[in-house]
Amino acid sequence: MPQFRKDPFGPAWVIISPERGLEPSDFGSVSRHDTTSPLAPGHEPHLGREIRIVRPVGASYGDSAWTMRVVESQSGLLEPDKPFAPSGPELFRQAASSGYQELIIEHPKPQAALETMPREHVIELIKLYRDRLAYVSSLPGIQHVQLTRNVGKVAGAAYNHPHAQILAVPVANRWIEEEASAADEYFKQHRCCLFCDVITAEIKARERIITQNEHFVALAPYASKTPFETWILPRQHSSGFTSIASNTVPYLADLLRSTLQAMNTALNDPPYNIILHTFPNEDNPRYHWHIEVLPRLTRQAGFDWSSGFYVNPTPPEDAARFLKETLALQEVTL
Ligand SMILES: [Zn+2]
Ligand SMILES: [Zn+2]
Repeated sequence: MPQFRKDPFGPAWVIISPERGLEPSDFGSVSRHDTTSPLAPGHEPHLGREIRIVRPVGASYGDSAWTMRVVESQSGLLEPDKPFAPSGPELFRQAASSGYQELIIEHPKPQAALETMPREHVIELIKLYRDRLAYVSSLPGIQHVQLTRNVGKVAGAAYNHPHAQILAVPVANRWIEEEASAADEYFKQHRCCLFCDVITAEIKARERIITQNEHFVALAPYASKTPFETWILPRQHSSGFTSIASNTVPYLADLLRSTLQAMNTALNDPPYNIILHTFPNEDNPRYHWHIEVLPRLTRQAGFDWSSGFYVNPTPPEDAARFLKETLALQEVTL
């Protein structure tokens, strides 16, 4: 039977409707056979200004080889030098699109994938995410920072090459605001973090837990909006991703890799988005950073757009069980 479920992280309800059936995905699988890419070594002069380069162990300064590169984004969406100064009448406010955008090229090889990169590489990559986010969070006037990874054209990827985008803007993010406001309300009533309480309750209930280790947990949220929506959260309270301690990064790398490997095996390399929800460099007892992994398996129907609530044909309990079983069968590539 279909069921309404209240999303504890926002005002909306979700309909979990297994009867609707998961329509055959027409989004296909992500191809990883491309060996040419505008982000690959040799194309450096055509990309934005280099901000940071990580060289292979043992390489000397001036060596052209690299393992990861951070460059200025050439999207032209945001203007770093323009101040954010809204003006105009109350109903027609406007401002320059002030902000910062960086592109992280995560690996020299276009056909590499986050889930199959060596563990050590992913650990270094997460530290690079942290360092870049810490930097952009410290820029004047920044209200919101985000890191996104789009994999596959359907998921909005501009390149087939593994990459992440960092964005920092002087305005709030609607979805984080919504979660923060639900968490704020919960904090007022219970004097504790909504996310921490959900983690404790989910670990106790077990049925939506995909995998966990000492420092992180991967789960299918109770009111999952889309099939196989997966959240990865630190078990210890923390509102800012930039405060992640170096000794816990390997635990995050392990969970991220194993979750993505299970998703690829179970769902045949789907296009997906990874979205980091975090406060900028800030310690706040009312928000809890997390990573949302969203495979693109269905198209959002007009009903979902018009009603503002989502209809999800895959109960999160089924998604978690399926991924957990896949994990148990597969050996995680090290
Ligand atoms: Zn918390
Ligand atoms: Zn979130």
